[in-house]
Amino acid sequence: MDKNLSYYDQLEAFRQPGCSICRLVERHSREYLETIFYESVNDPEIRLQLRNAFGFCAAHAMKAAEIGSPLAIALIYEDILNALDQEIGRAIRNGRVGMKGKCPFCEQEHQMEIRLTRALAASIEEEAMQTAFKSSEGLCARHLIKLLSATSPDIRQFVGESERGKIRALRAELKELIRKNDYRFAKETIGEEGDSWLRALRKTAGHFIERKGKSLTG
Ligand SMILES: [Zn+2]
Ligand SMILES: [Zn+2]
Repeated sequence: MDKNLSYYDQLEAFRQPGCSICRLVERHSREYLETIFYESVNDPEIRLQLRNAFGFCAAHAMKAAEIGSPLAIALIYEDILNALDQEIGRAIRNGRVGMKGKCPFCEQEHQMEIRLTRALAASIEEEAMQTAFKSSEGLCARHLIKLLSATSPDIRQFVGESERGKIRALRAELKELIRKNDYRFAKETIGEEGDSWLRALRKTAGHFIERKGKSLTG
């Protein structure tokens, strides 16, 4: 990945809701899937990986259904179903059966996460990145832990304290939302804390979660 591009992508992702690393992984993964469907349907290496895993995992199968053309999916899965048929044949004959590989797109996302976390661990030494980080929603729990384990003590302190501030503010919003759902305070208007439950899900689970217009109050 081009370092400059990654740097500016990261800065831009900090201006968007949710974890910036999740957002960038999601984007790269989508672009990669699009490349497979539009340019590399017959790539022997990718086809082998998909055969070995008997297709995409559930999450990537959903994305494939969204992005891929029916013809591209038909070509790929005619092959995968043939591999599955043969594997069942082996199981019937000798009882030996098993997956030979994992979803290649999960592995691709994993590698991308490592690269993005390393790039952020380096670029967050810079003031502009620190400013953007501070005003962002911060990272999800998983990516935060990864970043904290990859930075110098000074940066760990900066990232840790900044995230603690965000987490405490979010907890206060959750408490306020819980309080206003008590019948004694039910007449009070729900403010910005209305979607704090959604931001709490996003803060821990990562992977950009959005459900516009939905809150606990209705
Ligand atoms: Zn994340
Ligand atoms: Zn997958």
